[in-house]
Amino acid sequence: MAIIMDGKALAGQLKAKVKAKIEQSGLKPGLAVVVVGDNPASLVYVKNKKRDCAECGIHSEEFALAADVGEDKLLALVEELNNRADIHGILVQFPLPAGYSEDKVIQAICPNKDVDAFHALNTGKIMSGNYTFLPCTPAGVMMLLDNYGIDPAGKHCVVVGRSNTVGKPQAMLLLHRDATVTICHSRTQDLGAMTRQADILVSAVGRVGLITADMVKPGAVVIDVAINRGEDGKLRGDVDFAAVEPIASHITPVPGGVGPMTRAVLMENTLRAAMGGQYGI
Ligand code: NAP
Repeated sequence: MAIIMDGKALAGQLKAKVKAKIEQSGLKPGLAVVVVGDNPASLVYVKNKKRDCAECGIHSEEFALAADVGEDKLLALVEELNNRADIHGILVQFPLPAGYSEDKVIQAICPNKDVDAFHALNTGKIMSGNYTFLPCTPAGVMMLLDNYGIDPAGKHCVVVGRSNTVGKPQAMLLLHRDATVTICHSRTQDLGAMTRQADILVSAVGRVGLITADMVKPGAVVIDVAINRGEDGKLRGDVDFAAVEPIASHITPVPGGVGPMTRAVLMENTLRAAMGGQYGI
């Protein structure tokens, strides 16, 4: 039976460290969360982020814009937040409704307030290993590995998914820790042949049941980044948890694995922004 990697508990520890650091420093970090439209998943994420901020002692402001507010008004709000001294982090919740350029919005955020680490300057820094902000989800995965004493050095890590926000930065962080990394995507032929080679398998696709037991090497570490809504309305990852758990050495649950870590790293990044990029855990 695998060790279940408890992201909820570890995220709680990280948030407690952030809270203590804020109390000691006397800083008042501020996070602006901008949501456009009424995507139900986005509204849940925003609510959770506000709760995390309250838990850590971070001032949060939510800006809820109508879906048809238009890109110009959204960009004007980002500019206003860029110029506010009491706002240290700016997060625009994606996906945006049709008709908005997510890239234009990302590049409009001041890189020093880009707590999601999506701006070109920050993604470039992630490539070079010289981070200001850690990319929230991939950094959360690395913290989970470290917490369970799993050293990626020399291991074959297979990352399924190549998005700019998860798959690619995840591969970079693993590479910087001396893993041999394979990145798979929708055009990969024979996905199972790739995943079966993984000592550490990270799945970030968004498809329930994609990773089945026959695709996992016995004893592998299995990290399920995905958050999908199952047919029964419950949250599910990409991994067939019931079938894979008996053969893996470690596995993350969904929910309670990577998701809480992502949110905790966001809190850490907001503190880091308030400290001028200086704070590291
Ligand atoms: P995304 O932008 O849609 O990217 C999905 C990736 O999966 C793409 O690279 C795609 O390949 C690949 N893919 C699709 N079908 C595939 C298949 N059959 N076999 C192999 N690869 C396939 O999604 P994302 O934003 O990276 O998010 C991925 C998942 O993680 C989603 O479930 C999302 O909700 C979740 N997520 C969770 C957290 C968290 O905190 N836990 C944070 C962010 C995202 P192509 O590039 O070829 O299209």
